[in-house]
Amino acid sequence: MNPPEVPAPDEITAPWWEATREHRLLVQTCVRCAGAQHPPRALCVHCGHDALGWSGSSGLGVVDSFTVVHRAPRPELEVPYVIARVRLAEGVILLTRLEGRDPGAWAIDDPVRATWVDLDDGRALPVFVPAGPSPTTEPEPAPEQRGS
Ligand SMILES: [Zn+2]
Repeated sequence: MNPPEVPAPDEITAPWWEATREHRLLVQTCVRCAGAQHPPRALCVHCGHDALGWSGSSGLGVVDSFTVVHRAPRPELEVPYVIARVRLAEGVILLTRLEGRDPGAWAIDDPVRATWVDLDDGRALPVFVPAGPSPTTEPEPAPEQRGS
C-alpha cells in the first residue's frame, strides 16, 4: 500500500486522530442540534454552535463518488489507486482510499466498511474495503449440466 500523506493534528482534529490510534472512527457531533460533520471544525456547520462532541462511527458506508488515479502526483506512489468520497451511515462524507478490489470494479453506492492503515507515528488512517457481497457481485450459482 502506498504511504499516505497525512496532515498533522491541530487542536480541533487532535481527538479524532487520538481515536485512530485505537482504530476507532469518530464523527464530530453537535451538542445542540445533534448534527454530524466531517472533517472536524470549530463550529457546527448546521447551526453554528461551538459545543461539539464526538460519537463513534459504525465504520459502515457507501461509495458516494470515486476516481481511479492512473498518474501518481508523487513518483513513489503505485498506480492505479482509488480516491473516493465515502458516505458513512452517520451521514458524513470522508475523503478516503478504496482498497481490496480491482480499481476498475468499483461502482457508486457500493457498500464499504472501514479498515485501518497504521502510520509510523502511531496514528492510523481509515481506508475502505468492500463490506461484503453486494447483489451485483454475488457469485452466480454453478450452472447445471443439462443433457439435451
Ligand atoms: Zn449544531
